[in-house]
Amino acid sequence: MTSLFEYAPAPESRSIVDIRPSYGLFVDGEFVDGTGTPLKTVNPATEEVLSEVATGSEEDVDRAVRAARRAFVKTWGPMRPADRGKYLFRIARLLQERAREFAVLETLDNGKPIRESRDVDVPLAAAHFFYHAGWADKLEHAGLGPAPRPLGVAGQVIPWNFPLLMLAWKVAPALATGNTVVLKPAETTPLTALLFAEICQQADLPPGVVNIVTGAGETGRAVISHPDVDKVAFTGSTEVGRSIARAVAGTEKRLTLELGGKAANIVFDDAPIDQAVEGIVRGIFFNQGHVCCAGSRLLVQESVHDEVVASLQRRIGTLRVGDPMDKNTDLGAINSAEQLARIRELAAFGETEGATCWQPEGELPDRGFWFKPTVFTDVSPAHRIARDEVFGPVLSVMTFRTPDEAVAKANNTTYGLSAGIWSEKGSRILKVTDQLRAGVVWANTFNEFDPTSPFGGYKQSGYGREGGRQGLAAYLSSGDQK
Ligand code: NAP
Ligand code: MG
Repeated sequence: MTSLFEYAPAPESRSIVDIRPSYGLFVDGEFVDGTGTPLKTVNPATEEVLSEVATGSEEDVDRAVRAARRAFVKTWGPMRPADRGKYLFRIARLLQERAREFAVLETLDNGKPIRESRDVDVPLAAAHFFYHAGWADKLEHAGLGPAPRPLGVAGQVIPWNFPLLMLAWKVAPALATGNTVVLKPAETTPLTALLFAEICQQADLPPGVVNIVTGAGETGRAVISHPDVDKVAFTGSTEVGRSIARAVAGTEKRLTLELGGKAANIVFDDAPIDQAVEGIVRGIFFNQGHVCCAGSRLLVQESVHDEVVASLQRRIGTLRVGDPMDKNTDLGAINSAEQLARIRELAAFGETEGATCWQPEGELPDRGFWFKPTVFTDVSPAHRIARDEVFGPVLSVMTFRTPDEAVAKANNTTYGLSAGIWSEKGSRILKVTDQLRAGVVWANTFNEFDPTSPFGGYKQSGYGREGGRQGLAAYLSSGDQK
């Protein structure tokens, strides 16, 4: 795409990764064949098939759950907590040592810019293991009862937008609290989870503590509904989350759901506009907008609307969309043809419902799945682009006049995962933040993540928290309950 500045290409080399032509399931410490029909995973920036990956059937999932149960009873459960911590530290260090390999593989399989996988996904994944490693022998001080106990086997299902990072959010707290794991990665992005399986081998993690079962939705369903799974942790769409809540209802299983979002990013007239524009860009275009907490609804105070939109458009004109392996790239490929079709469909609703669509000049690559950074103005809260999660690089801009109106509009959503506020007044930030029904509220920044900070939603964004001391609670029983 056109840019203010010309950059020489700065391609990252893919020679550091060694992608096998096919992968099995990781069960009981070894790679084994799956009995389902294998699936292919592609590079969404080129449509090149990267590898063939096994599909776990019900029978395979059962094998994995039995391995996890054995490990829970025989090795991981009885292990001294300080020793469990050592394994987690070892995994964290291995993730750091092999960071470049993980970053390149994540970018190839997912389509996200190498700059993001290198600087965000992989370092944060390692940070999650470091953070939870520290908790492993201090759980009685977590404020969750004097002798909190692990639950047993955790069945975990994750989406494709942050494949390795979502794995870390799930696996690190489960292991630190003494549980064992059966995890299903997303169908389109299984490769970093399989490389993580190699890390488990390299760390000499006892067999069965972590099991990775690849496959599509059916495999996920088998994981969450297996009768010997004690705890279900799911991150994904609200629709699938609902069906999982139904499947788990009436069983003894504990459940946490991290679902969709439609976050308001609120810009007051006293905000530093240039800084806010950077935050708006980061809020909606980070990871192509495939972010559950993306700032997809921009609420701008009416008096600064024109200035903010003009400045935003200028800034978007400098974003570089294209080859995710180029270190200068800001926006990479859309993860799949299905997701691209969904983004196109919702963006088309924006136009037919009367909003004004703006996109920067420039060509997109011929092959692969691409969508330009897009801004809709003249959006009304009733429009679908203001209500539905697009999960792509599409921003809806609305205005407000008073703080009360901003709060009312921000909370006018079925979701409640995150929000942002931009203002120079600390008192206003505190007052508005208090009124927002969102699990995370960022002030004068956006999309900032830290393992010490709990993350999770209100309303249809799900329940339970991940990260921080609060996140441990989902994997522990206080002693008087199961
Ligand atoms: P999805 O369709 O719900 O899929 C999520 C995972 O569930 C995938 O591994 C999927 O397998 C699997 N799955 C599908 N049907 C299932 C079923 N009936 N039972 C069990 N598992 C099943 O979501 P997605 O489209 O991959 O991800 C995007 C969504 O995730 C967005 O709505 C986003 O907001 C949300 N998200 C939320 C958070 C958060 O922390 N709140 C973080 C990231 C993403 P397949 O891959 O084969 O479909
Ligand atoms: Mg892929």
